[in-house]
Amino acid sequence: MQSKLDRFPEIREAVGALCGRFPVEYWRTLDESRAYPEAFVDALTKAGWLGALIPQQYGGSGLGITEASVILEEVNRSGGNSAACHAQMYIMGTILRHGSDEQKRRYLPRIATGELRLQAFGVTEPTTGTDTTKLKTTAVRKGDRYVVHGQKVWTSRVQHSDLMLLLARTTPLAETKRKGDGLSVFLVELGTAIGRGMAVRPIRNMMNHETNEVFFDGLEVPAENLVGEEGRGFRYVLDGMNAERILIAAECVGDGYWFVERASAYARERVVFDRPIGKNQGVQFPIARAYVNVEASNLMRYRAAELFDRGEPCGAEANMAKLLAADASWEAANACLQTHGGFGFAAEYDVERKFRETRLFQVAPISTNLILSYVAEHVLDLPRSF
Ligand SMILES: Cc1cc2nc3c(=O)[nH]c(=O)nc-3n(C[C@H](O)[C@H](O)[C@H](O)COP(=O)(O)OP(=O)(O)OC[C@H]3O[C@@H](n4cnc5c(N)ncnc54)[C@H](O)[C@@H]3O)c2cc1C
Repeated sequence: MQSKLDRFPEIREAVGALCGRFPVEYWRTLDESRAYPEAFVDALTKAGWLGALIPQQYGGSGLGITEASVILEEVNRSGGNSAACHAQMYIMGTILRHGSDEQKRRYLPRIATGELRLQAFGVTEPTTGTDTTKLKTTAVRKGDRYVVHGQKVWTSRVQHSDLMLLLARTTPLAETKRKGDGLSVFLVELGTAIGRGMAVRPIRNMMNHETNEVFFDGLEVPAENLVGEEGRGFRYVLDGMNAERILIAAECVGDGYWFVERASAYARERVVFDRPIGKNQGVQFPIARAYVNVEASNLMRYRAAELFDRGEPCGAEANMAKLLAADASWEAANACLQTHGGFGFAAEYDVERKFRETRLFQVAPISTNLILSYVAEHVLDLPRSF
């Protein structure tokens, strides 16, 4: 469906044409077997779309976050799911902003071509959850290496990555001045790590989403794979979050339009009591309201993206865009499912698949409550609650 807010028609057309080669039947079949969309990710990579944010000097296309967000929006709007590969776009930002020249030269060009996939990010841990600064995985320096012990959970796409960005504690919490200190970021080369101090156990989950428990038992990471300064990793990770929030907001917007379009089409066609169900305002209004909210959240997504691309502070806007868009896509998902009645539950209509996929964004990569607490504390100057 079209929106007057649609920008970058050339990007939309090209990405839309690529997505057209991977119709909903493709995603549905993969969903049944919980298989990775390898052919789709390969095509998106080869067309250069996943290297959108990498500067041209490193072989990427050097586009802004606005254009990048349009790419992922189109994937979700076509009925697909960007979560299979969106991280390839933004995880490299940590190397770009904080890596050494040598790391940038060594990795970025090969990430841009897709020869290397850097789309795994190990932050969340089973016992500490959202309270990131309490994470327990340690990396202890021994000569020219760091030795890692600990555990991560929900580390997505590890089995389809060559590199993982790992956040681990290098100074015990008790010895730090501030709770964000003492954490460091490492680039783990998965080909040599798995089976040599690192083990991966897949987590079967609600969607077709490749995600894992990861165990470290003496994994050795060369000291040259430390990104930036030791002890400043938490700040580096925070730096990347605005980009992630804006891109996820765009995916939600794409989902939202998909649900609204599907719901409207079905409501026009489905005849019950000798008239299209869409003639009933009880059916129309939830779809119309969902559309209003998708459009409104889309405005906030563009606003956050614009600030980001101008290099201006955009933490509040990026968080608000993500919250509004995740809420709007979830509302649209509910309206779409309800409009389809019983058929909404049938896999062949794809509504239940997209419904499951868009539900994730209420929780990951950041839960709605945590965004509200950010806005309360940092925008409204309310007392810190934790
Ligand atoms: C499919 C999937 C893929 C993921 N991929 C990745 C990945 O690639 N890398 C990665 O590092 N992580 C990943 N995650 C983890 C994700 O970021 C976390 O699940 C999310 O941040 C929430 O953390 P948690 O699950 O530990 O919940 P918890 O921190 O245990 O929180 C549970 C609930 O309590 C609420 N809550 C907690 N504290 C407060 C508070 N102070 N005030 C109000 N509410 C509160 C939360 O909002 C949440 O709803 C993924 C998760 C999923 C489900």
